[in-house]
Amino acid sequence: MQMNKMVKPGEAMSLATGLARPSREEAEAAVRTLIRWAGDDPGREGLAGTPDRVVRSYEEFFAGYDRDPRDMLQRTFEEVEGYDEVVALRDIRLESHCEHHMVPIIGKVHVGYLPDKRVVGISKLARVVDAFAHRLQIQEKLTAQIANTLQEVLQPRGVAVVIEAAHQCMTTRGVHKSDVTMVTSRMLGAFRDNGETRREFLSMIGRTSI
Ligand SMILES: [Zn+2]
Repeated sequence: MQMNKMVKPGEAMSLATGLARPSREEAEAAVRTLIRWAGDDPGREGLAGTPDRVVRSYEEFFAGYDRDPRDMLQRTFEEVEGYDEVVALRDIRLESHCEHHMVPIIGKVHVGYLPDKRVVGISKLARVVDAFAHRLQIQEKLTAQIANTLQEVLQPRGVAVVIEAAHQCMTTRGVHKSDVTMVTSRMLGAFRDNGETRREFLSMIGRTSI
């Protein structure tokens, strides 16, 4: 860590990195620099409010740096009448940003787990997805982070995560392959060891294979 990045009293800090955050004014100045770099005039009327709007957008896109996904899974329910089958939440909308180009990754996340005596509210699964998605990501890391966090905190008999997504760094720039989606999966515990359990999850999300 460089000394000039260390947090001084009164300065905002990133929970995820422990590094100091620049001020809003510095962030807006950086947007004006990029507008000039693109070839336009940040002083013209149509662009006057743009740095402010871009910075606000970043607050939404990257809100995950202020959230701890582990906290979201602390509340669980044990009165489940012995339910011990797969729980799956499919088609969770994914909105993330690729860490190489900072452009959108848009797709779907399917999450499953095999409970061991306790379950978690299903909205919490979607919140965990959102917390990791609202950071700079690559799809492989996102898939693993969601699965590993569910496994560590809930300690179920297994976790399955499948992500299908289009990367705008591939669809709107570079090779311009508009119809390509990327599929990643992480299978832990019973979903990794037991073909029957894995097939059951895949059929629940409408796939026959990965
Ligand atoms: Zn990219």
